Order: sequence, then C-alpha cells, then structure tokens
Amino acid sequence: MPKVKDGKKESKDSSEQKKSPAAAPEEVIAGEHCPFCNNKTLTLMDTKKEIPYFGSCFLFSMDCSSCGYHKADIELEQQHDPCKYTLDIDSEKDMSIRVVKSSFATIKLPHIGDITPGASSNGYVTNVEGILQRMIKQTEQIRDNEEEDEENRKKAKNIIKKLHRVIWGQEKQKLIIEDPTGNSAIISEKAILEKLKVKKEE
Ligand SMILES: [Zn+2]
Repeated sequence: MPKVKDGKKESKDSSEQKKSPAAAPEEVIAGEHCPFCNNKTLTLMDTKKEIPYFGSCFLFSMDCSSCGYHKADIELEQQHDPCKYTLDIDSEKDMSIRVVKSSFATIKLPHIGDITPGASSNGYVTNVEGILQRMIKQTEQIRDNEEEDEENRKKAKNIIKKLHRVIWGQEKQKLIIEDPTGNSAIISEKAILEKLKVKKEE
C-alpha cells in the first residue's frame, strides 16, 4: 500500500479555492522575505471563506514568485475537538461532497493508501473527487518511477484503476479523515463524526 507524504512535488493546490468568488483575500502582505530563496518576493495571504452548511474558515497561504514556494493551511473559525470523519463513497454523486482538510490531517483510503501529514503538507478546501484525484496523481508517481520495483508499480497501476472506478460510481470506497487539531471535516449527512483519540505524550 503506498504511503505518501502530503504536499510533495506539488507547487500549487486545488483550484477549488481560487474559483470561489467568496474567497477574496482579506489581507495581502507582499514583498516579504522568502525563507527558501532569500528574495523579498514572498506574498502572505489571509482569506475568510464561508463554507455552506458548515461555517467560516480562514485560509492562510504563502507564495514566493521567485522560487515557487507554496504553503497553505486552513483553520475553522470555531474551535473543534480532535475529529475522525468516515464516509462511505458509493455513488458518483458523492464526488461533490465538500472536504475541508488542514495540514495536520491524515487521509485514509482503506485498501488503497494513506496521505499522511508532513512539513510540506497544505490545508485546503476541496471535494471527494479532489481527494481521489490527488491520490491518483501521487500513485501515478509510483507507477511511473522506474526505480520502484515491478511489484509496487503493478500495485500502483491497479490502485489507479480502482480509484477511477470509485470516481465513476462503479466501486464503493471508504474515506477517513483524522485530524488531531479538529480543523478538518467531511460536510455531508452521510459522514460519521467521531471524537479522535489523541495519543498524549507522557
Ligand atoms: Zn522563494
């Protein structure tokens, strides 16, 4: 099963948030120092976004026009407990279900793979199809990597086929999102919300 670190090899995030007219940035600070290339070409953006049937959230992003550095995250206006959402995807209609994912969230697609949070993870608002497309993109990197062994590349190929069938509503699939910060959600009556048990360090 492929375990992929979120955000790797991605420069830009889901176009979802750019399409929405409600997402005009509240605050833009340009000409900041980029921690990666040291140019003063970093733009910080802070946008409030209304998510129907859910509430408001804040989108933060940093973009450097010199080196292409991109980092984004999301925070809900109201504080939420550590959460675990489970959704049974069983039709094409489910593709449009909204998903809010913070950079701390782990996405689990049982029997397919996980997207685990890392330093380069981003937060974003997308939908179920957006999550599945991301998984396809990342699995394609395994399939197309000639250094990967034959067995793994074959597995990747089958997973991509399966994901396409899920998108077309031909196959059922479970989608689980766990977020210890509580800043993620699957916005659907079909989604089951449970409290996430967070392991405390002793
Ligand atoms: Zn830069």
